[in-house]
Amino acid sequence: MPQDRVTVVDHPLAGHLLADLRDAGTEPERYRTLAERLTSVLVLEATRSLPTVTETVQTPITATEVTRIGRHVVAVPILRAGLGMLSAATDLLPDIGVGYVGLERNEETLQPTEYYYKAPSLDDASVLLLDPMLATGGSAAFAAKLLRDRGATDLTLVCIIAAPEGIERLTQSDPDIRIVTACVDEGLNDVGYIVPGLGDFGDRLFGTF
Ligand code: URA
Repeated sequence: MPQDRVTVVDHPLAGHLLADLRDAGTEPERYRTLAERLTSVLVLEATRSLPTVTETVQTPITATEVTRIGRHVVAVPILRAGLGMLSAATDLLPDIGVGYVGLERNEETLQPTEYYYKAPSLDDASVLLLDPMLATGGSAAFAAKLLRDRGATDLTLVCIIAAPEGIERLTQSDPDIRIVTACVDEGLNDVGYIVPGLGDFGDRLFGTF
């Protein structure tokens, strides 16, 4: 695993939230809340190295130097499962720009293809690609290339669970991408689900079983 590109958020709260997300008995309403909370923890880590600017403000007591985020941030969820992570990013960073990527599988080539793309300018922005399950890495690699082609230079994938196969594929196709995740699982089963994983993230989020 390319250790320098991957950050596993090793925090008791992340583990606690992930435990309930993995639990097959967790209903969609609670699942959505847990996904949002865990994404907040991940976004905090993903934005740790954002540049800051220094300003002076007047407190009720005295003038003091403060720091603010010094770069525009854009969040881009991959439809549809990435939508479960978006509100955490917009709540933490109210000035954030939001884009969307819709991907589907071409049934002849079995490769991902784009059916929807809409995003603000990515120039000079820190871009957070939101996709909860890094499984084979095919969709994430496709989306990362799409964002690079549209100008993304500082790009981080924020995911809930990553499989080693997905990390390998994504970092081979995009060696500069950073991955922030709550856990690296064992691997994939023969139908491409992460093991032990949590099942189909989108189905559990939206109750489509
Ligand atoms: N997508 C999911 O939702 N779950 C997996 O395990 C793999 C891909």
